[in-house]
Amino acid sequence: MIDISFQRNQFEVVPTLVPQTLARALKSRIKVLSAGTARGLPKLHTLPVSQMLETHLSSFDPIGEDAEAENAFYIADLGEVYCQHLRWKALLPRIEPFFAMKCNPDPMVMRLMASLGIGFDCASKNEIQQVLDMNVNPSRIIFANPCKQDSFVKYAYTNKVRMMTFDNTEELHKIKRSHPEAQLVLRILTDDSKSLCKLGLKFGAPLDTTRALLQLDVIGVSFHVGSGCFDANAYGEAVVRARRVFDEAKEYGYDFKFLDVGGGFPSSNVTEGITFEKIAKILGPTIDALFEPEVRVIAEPGRYYVGSAFTLATQVIARRTIRSNNNADVQKDASKDPSHMYYINDGVYGSFNCTMFDHQVCEPRVLLRNGEFAYRDKQLLLLGDAIPHGYASVWGPTCDSIDCITSKAYLPLLEAGDWLYFDNMGAYTITAASQFNGFKKSKVLYTTTEDKVTYFF
Ligand SMILES: *Cc1c(COP(=O)(O)O)cnc(C)c1O
Repeated sequence: MIDISFQRNQFEVVPTLVPQTLARALKSRIKVLSAGTARGLPKLHTLPVSQMLETHLSSFDPIGEDAEAENAFYIADLGEVYCQHLRWKALLPRIEPFFAMKCNPDPMVMRLMASLGIGFDCASKNEIQQVLDMNVNPSRIIFANPCKQDSFVKYAYTNKVRMMTFDNTEELHKIKRSHPEAQLVLRILTDDSKSLCKLGLKFGAPLDTTRALLQLDVIGVSFHVGSGCFDANAYGEAVVRARRVFDEAKEYGYDFKFLDVGGGFPSSNVTEGITFEKIAKILGPTIDALFEPEVRVIAEPGRYYVGSAFTLATQVIARRTIRSNNNADVQKDASKDPSHMYYINDGVYGSFNCTMFDHQVCEPRVLLRNGEFAYRDKQLLLLGDAIPHGYASVWGPTCDSIDCITSKAYLPLLEAGDWLYFDNMGAYTITAASQFNGFKKSKVLYTTTEDKVTYFF
């Protein structure tokens, strides 16, 4: 049995971009150095998340008209992203991560990742452009959308992005016409029946079609077991399938040296069931057993890196009582139907689109109640008998009834002006948020709980 435990600070990460201070010192002599693009980025604090929340909440006058301060906001802890990277390096040292940026293309997250030497999985011209604008070498990009707009393929060609996935003949011919230097990665279909987001509905070549797709400069195979996967064996089985295609390709004169094991790795808040540790324990050894050391292995983790790094704070803007407001009654009937409806200032059309698109379950916790701060350990203060709890539904701010974040949350009685927070809001939240009904996207404040991260900015 391999020991797969992970400890913080076990590993050091060497930055691949020149740190800013050094860059500045060099700049007078070497004009071309451009690592200083971090300039113009928002301020990075070094406070604990709780202190960030508390400081922001106390920074405005609750009876004033300061709409900006009253808005919902995120605290991003870049230290969490950094720790996830160390964990990856420790548990899957052979696999190079290419961050699936659709998950959260936040400029500070992206800057940190670029500095850490992480690659990027891009799906569109704009995504590729955002990465190239950070002066990342195009060889650190994989254009991992199997069905691409022709002009995007041409853009990739002009900008020297060579690696791209495909899964059908028509795409192969399109790429051949528009990108003579493409390095093709054949995306195969895997069993996604044990995943919440079944990507096989849309992408992946069935194994009985892969022979016909072995043309041009195909360098290897990719797969994606689906996001929200609840069976660690899915990765092992997919690797076995990939091996079959490697062998088949050999018969056709191809010598594959590239394997892309996709995404779907859970974030650090998943500590039961299919954890990252469990997946790593199966995936790492299976790859080593089936693929010779010369085969380059990459992955496209998305949620893994950012899921737990973002906390969202929202204000209760209104409350509706749907049953008796008598406290004793609330307590007595706590197991029955929700007695209140709370309306908060971010919803399903905003950050909580993840409840629809990504099957996430978002659990509200009290952040500020009656002027009292209650983040994390301070939640205990709310459990005393003095504060009756009851079931309530929580709704977003728009005029649409689909805008329901949770139909049943167990909460103490809250008033408009109190605050709720939601942990683990970093994946597939802000990136797909709309401004429906005129509600702006919640803004992000940045901190790091790992001091080393400041070195990269
Ligand atoms: C969405 C996606 C990912 C990332 O998925 P996660 O579940 O966030 O890890 C990786 N690769 C491809 C091709 C994707 O479409």
